[in-house]
Amino acid sequence: MESAVNFYDHTREELVKLLAEWGSPRHTGAQVFRWLYQKRARDFGEMTDLSKELRRELASKATLSTLTLHTRQASQDGTVKYLWQPAPDSAGSTALVESVLIPMARDEEGEPSRYTACLSTQAGCRMKCTFCATGVPKFRRNLTTAEITAQIVGMERDSGVPFNNIVVMGMGEPMDNYENTEKAMRILHDPEGLNLGRRRITVSTSGLIDHLERFIKDDWPVSLAVSLHSADPEIRDRLMPINRSNPLDKLYKVMRRFTFVRRLPVTLEYILLKDVNDRPEDAEKLAAYCKDLLCKVNLIRYNPVPTLPFEAPGEDRVMAFRDDLKRRGMKVFLRERKGVDIAAACGQLGFENTPLPGANVAPL
Ligand code: SF4
Repeated sequence: MESAVNFYDHTREELVKLLAEWGSPRHTGAQVFRWLYQKRARDFGEMTDLSKELRRELASKATLSTLTLHTRQASQDGTVKYLWQPAPDSAGSTALVESVLIPMARDEEGEPSRYTACLSTQAGCRMKCTFCATGVPKFRRNLTTAEITAQIVGMERDSGVPFNNIVVMGMGEPMDNYENTEKAMRILHDPEGLNLGRRRITVSTSGLIDHLERFIKDDWPVSLAVSLHSADPEIRDRLMPINRSNPLDKLYKVMRRFTFVRRLPVTLEYILLKDVNDRPEDAEKLAAYCKDLLCKVNLIRYNPVPTLPFEAPGEDRVMAFRDDLKRRGMKVFLRERKGVDIAAACGQLGFENTPLPGANVAPL
């Protein structure tokens, strides 16, 4: 069980304060922070602008431990899913956690040139959306800040590629692990950390209204995506139990506030489910709901999860839904399917952590 302080749990300001308390000058904390995120040091021995004595002292008091790679699964489309084994927490609880590397664009030779990383914030999820694999198994625990940032560090080390975008859309509801996720986002954004701009980090929430109010007030340095999936209260109640306590009208108001305060659009995630939310009347309700909201809609074809009673609509229905929204003047994107064969696509993470039949599982 881990007891030493993990430096990946700390923002730059916290590291400066901690090392000052340990007797180092204030600039040492910032130096160590840069070693972690800019120079990607794996141990204190690499921090060669610190004295040998200080490096020894830090190694005796702190750790740079990240996540242990359990399995890597590679999809035929280039997506890679990582299963991580975190160290047991103070209560001895552990669980597998997943993150996904997604190639987004290709260069003239057809090689991937831009990558997005999809991160998890919890092992399991308490929101229990009825279409999502992550909510099926028992909720295990929140991830620490170090376990969130370590997913990036681990994927970069393994793949050798830098990430252009981060989406916090993996396992868990980020706002339900508020403090740890907020700190991780500040580390990713810090110019001396991973230096990712607000538009390059997107946090996706199921729409917890009180948490969203706090998120706006605290000014997380990220863009916002909200899982909507229906603008009809009854359908959304069925798909997302949290809708009963976080209803659509209140959600609308808080999203409007976000767009006013941050001057950014909110992305609405909409998974198309056959005969549930893919009909012309569903498009009409969605367009009416979005009236006067600065937003764009991400349409996602449902990705199959064994045991869940949903299907993806046919392509003609998907296109008709998209075109209907466009005709109504909405900004709509149809998300490309990635990593379905290894259960790495949207809504599939955490399903017993097993690949689907036919998956190409890369050996470690
Ligand atoms: S869709 Fe998101 S919030 Fe809903 S159960 Fe899945 S991980 Fe949780």
